[in-house]
Amino acid sequence: MSLQVFNTLSNKKEEFVPIDGKNVRMYACGPTVYDSSHLGHARMAIVWDVIQRYLRSVGYNVTFVRNITDVDDKIINRAKELGISPDQLARQYTFEYWRDMYALNVMAPDFEPKATEFIAPMIQFVRELIDAGHAYEANGDVYFDVASFNDYGKLSKQNLEQLQSGAREQVRTQEDLASIKKNPVDFALWKSADEGELGWPSPWGYGRPGWHLECSTMIRTVLGESIDIHGGGEDLVFPHHENEIAQSESLFKKNMAKYWMHNSFVQVSAEKMSKSLGNFKTIKSLLENYSADTLRLLILQTHYRNPIDFTADSLAAAKTAVLRLVRAAALDAELEQNGDVPAKVRDAIAETEKQFSDAMDNDFNTAVAISALFSLGDKVFQTKDASEQKAYAAALVRLAKVLGFTLADTRKKIEPETAKGVMDLVLELRKNARENKDYATSDLIRKELAQLGINVMDAPGGATWEKA
Ligand SMILES: [Zn+2]
Repeated sequence: MSLQVFNTLSNKKEEFVPIDGKNVRMYACGPTVYDSSHLGHARMAIVWDVIQRYLRSVGYNVTFVRNITDVDDKIINRAKELGISPDQLARQYTFEYWRDMYALNVMAPDFEPKATEFIAPMIQFVRELIDAGHAYEANGDVYFDVASFNDYGKLSKQNLEQLQSGAREQVRTQEDLASIKKNPVDFALWKSADEGELGWPSPWGYGRPGWHLECSTMIRTVLGESIDIHGGGEDLVFPHHENEIAQSESLFKKNMAKYWMHNSFVQVSAEKMSKSLGNFKTIKSLLENYSADTLRLLILQTHYRNPIDFTADSLAAAKTAVLRLVRAAALDAELEQNGDVPAKVRDAIAETEKQFSDAMDNDFNTAVAISALFSLGDKVFQTKDASEQKAYAAALVRLAKVLGFTLADTRKKIEPETAKGVMDLVLELRKNARENKDYATSDLIRKELAQLGINVMDAPGGATWEKA
């Protein structure tokens, strides 16, 4: 079976045939760096990570670009709240994003352009749109003239009339009333800014670029006028991707991307998670108690186009399931290959590998591909022969790597929450010993803990501890 991908543009699965043979040019919209990343960001990053890993594993030369939006009203407003410069805020959250991606074992993109580094090519893009009659200047702003582009709405399956009446029904703000747009659906390519605000000089005065323009410009500059895959979250279909298409296709007169792919969202049920919600807000806090593999399994066990209902139970179940894979994979390193692997084992492995690639060829169906990993894990434990166990374990490690699992053996690594529980238990045992006047035991506990750098302090309310 050849690789089939679901194309939002045609609303169906299509055979994947890159524009340029084995070379795949792929772009995914990256984060706007104004706050810490959460599970939704993790899903988006992991989905595109797995897609590009799989394409590489089957022999494509992938150039993967993911941008950083470091100019945006959200950044400017947040920075104002915090009393720091937008640049400082953006750099801080860019750094945090990289830290989170590294911790999640998400491969770095081949190129990671930042909006602030692309101001000159963005201005050039706007200039060309104006020259071609697709954009106009009004009071220091520049708008894209949506009526000048016949295909507007082709990705989100809306027509201009529907969009115009929708825009008219919206409550008009003072800003809207004052705006001099030709058409309510026209969108900003360049927005004027006051002196002292974040901005750059341009032929239309001081200002900053619109968000949609950023991706069109980066794709043109880094990858070219037409690419194979453009990806992003489904919330980006309209208006962001529709506007990217309008900008690029009106100028270059060719398809911006052959395949438009969108991942669904993560739903966190506030009610179910209320007790522990504080712990589940950011990737960083999740990774304090769950491994990167656990989060990856939780995300990949649902097909990327279906929503994930995130609950504490699903997280706990993923943790247990990953442990089984980790135990099986550990045998690859522990066991010696001390005999020939029988043909029936080789056949069973080849059969499972085929199930895996068939699933991935079917629009990256990771939910089914993962079942191939578990079936290899089962075989590791069902087999008694060490050579056969090792062969199954090695196949498991190989396929898991394609999906970006590390299967790192963290069974002896204790997370902070568990460590706290262990210390509560130790202090409880020491308290019991003291109550029974078993001072030899209570002193031994204190002395041994001190050896580990943990000081126990007795107080009227009970003993507490601290680590030096
Ligand atoms: Zn974008």
